[in-house]
This record gives sequence, structure tokens and C-alpha cells, in this order.
Amino acid sequence: MGTEMKGSILMRRYELGRLLGQGTFAKVYYGRNLKTSQSVAIKVIDKEKVLKVGLIDQIKREISVMRLVQHPHVVQLYEVMASKTKIYFVLEYIKGGELFNKVAKGKLKEELARKYFQQLISAVDFFHSRGIYHRDLKLENLLLDDNEDLKVSDFGLSALAESKKQDGLLHTTCGTPDYVAPEVINRKGYDGAKADIWSCGVILFVLMAGYLPFHDSNLMEMYRKIGKAEFKCPNWFPSDVRRLLSKILDPNPATRVSIAKIKANPWFRKGLDNKLMKNVQEKEERSPLDVSAVFNSSENDAVDCKQEMVKPTNLNAFDIISLSAGFDLSGLFEDTNRKKEAKFTSTEPATTIISKLEEIAKKLRLKVKKKDGGVIKMEGSKEGRKGVLAMDAEIFEVTPSFHLVEIKKTNGDTLEYQKMWKQGVRPALKDIVWAWQGDQPESLVLPSPTPQQQL
Ligand code: ADP
Ligand code: MG
Repeated sequence: MGTEMKGSILMRRYELGRLLGQGTFAKVYYGRNLKTSQSVAIKVIDKEKVLKVGLIDQIKREISVMRLVQHPHVVQLYEVMASKTKIYFVLEYIKGGELFNKVAKGKLKEELARKYFQQLISAVDFFHSRGIYHRDLKLENLLLDDNEDLKVSDFGLSALAESKKQDGLLHTTCGTPDYVAPEVINRKGYDGAKADIWSCGVILFVLMAGYLPFHDSNLMEMYRKIGKAEFKCPNWFPSDVRRLLSKILDPNPATRVSIAKIKANPWFRKGLDNKLMKNVQEKEERSPLDVSAVFNSSENDAVDCKQEMVKPTNLNAFDIISLSAGFDLSGLFEDTNRKKEAKFTSTEPATTIISKLEEIAKKLRLKVKKKDGGVIKMEGSKEGRKGVLAMDAEIFEVTPSFHLVEIKKTNGDTLEYQKMWKQGVRPALKDIVWAWQGDQPESLVLPSPTPQQQL
């Protein structure tokens, strides 16, 4: 596919324009919504390539989350469509081009480099808190909008780019490992969060130096340097930047600095727009996306996933905030007396979540009472130090295949409860948990949202 796409109409809704760019696994075209005239970017991916990679489940999960949350420094995903052979991502159109082109003209001033780095970290922090990793952060994936603000391209879609790592082509056809963390190169199996943090360090270096920290024309030499985090800061780097970089570019992912620590770093905080670290926006009323349809469709013409949608999502701002760990909302809701509840998200249907809870209750000899509004009450039979142990589990529907579950103690002794929780409940939940919410040290306990939906 190439220029023949130009002028064609997609889904009777988007007119395709010129090729905006070509990435490692996709072509991106300019597009215009025929009805609203809104400019969009349409990313076209070969379905076959995706299927080969075998990451479909992960991609489906990430796409459905991507559609539910948005961040001012991440390119927004408007919709996903598919034909027999292609997947189309309709994205926010970012006018200013790649940050790469700007840096290619020369290094940035410290203040500007810091601004972009702050915006990058805020985006990375936000998506990590939602269990989404980028895995391919590099200058070429950072775009600039008309306000000269940074937009990370493809958060959550880059799992697709994993192909290049799996088939070992990373070193040849798909560019260089310049931004890749040592543990990723060593194929040790890695933590997506830590690997992203490393890439952010490389990006900070490039912004301020105007060149890459580990680059070498000899590939083996470059691997060696990355493995040892052997880099030299140019003489114009201030000492606080050097210190920060040495903590981020730590070859050991276990001791590498966390996002929380980066956010607390004095150099990072200088001139920080406080809104940046709290930013969550509610998407306007949206229907859940049947992501499977994108991968299963066999029709010849592009199908609109909307046709397959069942019912509208009733997700309010409160729900979205509660789903997102790591937001500093303390000023709004601080209440230190609140009992801490445990929260997790699950990609299982509500019925499966309920039967799992019932199974756990049975094993722990707890009585189960189902209540309206997705609440399940569980109660012990033995008298404890402070009466019988009791807990509530509340299930919130985000989409039919994505739920948030909250479990909290409603009666009994806290220590007894914690013991039962640690030894009995939490480990037994592992089959249905997609991600625990609020496991991050900086996360806060938020008030329970009022259930919007009855189960
Ligand atoms: P890949 O993930 O395959 O590398 P990218 O998403 O990085 O693909 O897109 C490739 C190029 O297309 C980018 O470098 C950029 O020039 C252009 N591009 C991508 N997304 C947009 C967008 N939302 N708006 C404008 N241009 C874009
Ligand atoms: Mg790219």
C-alpha cells in the first residue's frame, strides 16, 4: 500500500490524504472526518504482522483501556477499525512533527529539555498506573503539537513493535537499540515500567546533548556500553542532571530509580506545572469498543466496530479517577480515618468474578450474601477479637469485559482481616486479577464511587 490510498474514503467517514510518516510497523496517513472536517491521523497496520507476533490479547486489552482514558501528552486514540487484512487506528492529528527533527538541528536549552522531560514523565506515569507500558519510547515516537507541547505516540500500541525484538531483527532492519534497556537486550524477561524509565533517561540525555549516549558504529560495542551503562555527559550538563541520569541509566532494573522518585527530584520539579501530575480527563460519552471484532473481522470492506457495540458505558469521572492510581487528589478528599480498601481490575466477566469470590468464601468458610448494585457481602461464622470478620466486594463495570473490583473489611479485627487477606483472599484472586490498583507507593485511597450500574 502506498500512494494509491490517497483520496480513498475509509468507512464512508474519513478521507485519506498524504502519507505523514512511516514507522517500524505501520504507515500513517493524514485523514479528514467527512462530517466534522476534523483532521485525524490514520495509522494502518497489517493484520498479519500482528497475528504473527502473538500479542493479540495484550493489544486488545490495551486498546480497550486506551479508549477509556486520555492524557494531554499522549496522542489520543479516537477509534479502531478493521478490514480483512488491515487494522486502522484513527488518532489525534499532531501538527508539529517529530521532536526528533528539532533535536536533529541541535541540542535543546536546559529549560526546554526539562519541559519535554516533565511532560514525558507525566504521560509515562499516568499510563504505568493503568498497567500500560510503551516499550518503544524514543525520540521518533515523540511528536509536537501546535503549542510546542509533547505528545507521546502510540502508548499501548507499541506492543506491536515487540515483533522486532522477538524475531531478532532489532539490530538490523528496525533501527538501533539506542534506547533499549540492558535487561531487554539480554532477553531476561523484563519489567515494562523499568524498561520505559531507562528509555526516558536516554531521551533526556539526547535532548540536552544533541546526540545519543550509547551510540557506536560497532553494534557489539554499543551493547557492551548499554550493558554497563557506560556513558559520558558532555561538559555543559549541570551536576543535578548528571546525578539524575546516573540514577535513571542504572543497568540494574532492581535499583533503577522509580517514576515516583523522578517526580520528587529537585531538578525535575523546577518550574513544574502542578496540573501536569494530576491530569486525568474524562472522555466524552463513549461506547465500549468490541476490540475482538477488530481482530476477527473477515469482511472485505472495512468494518466499523461500532456496529458491534452493545450498550453505552456509564463511566463517570469518579470511576475513571478511582481506576487511576497515583493521582494526587489529597487536597480534595483527604480522610485519614478511611479504611483502606483493595482494588483490582479484571478482564473477566462479572459472573466469573462473582463465582471466584464465592469459591474463595467457601474455602475460608465465609457466608455469602449477594446484594444489589454489584455488592457481595461475606461474613465469617467465628467470633474474633472484635466480632466476626466481614468484608464487602463491590464490582463496577467499566466495559462488559473490564471490571473494577473493590474489597474492604466491614467488621472485625484489622490484624485478623489482614492475615486472612494476605494468606487466603489475595493469592486466590490471582487468576482473575488483571492489575492491582493503587499498589504504587504514592497512590492514595479514594472514596468509593457510587455504583453507576446494577449488575
Ligand atoms: P511506528 O509505531 O510504526 O513507528 P508511528 O506511530 O511512530 O509508527 O508513526 C510513524 C510516523 O508517522 C511518525 O514518526 C510521525 O511522523 C507520523 N505520525 C504518527 N502519528 C501521527 C499523528 N497522530 N499525527 C501526525 N503524524 C503522525
Ligand atoms: Mg514510531
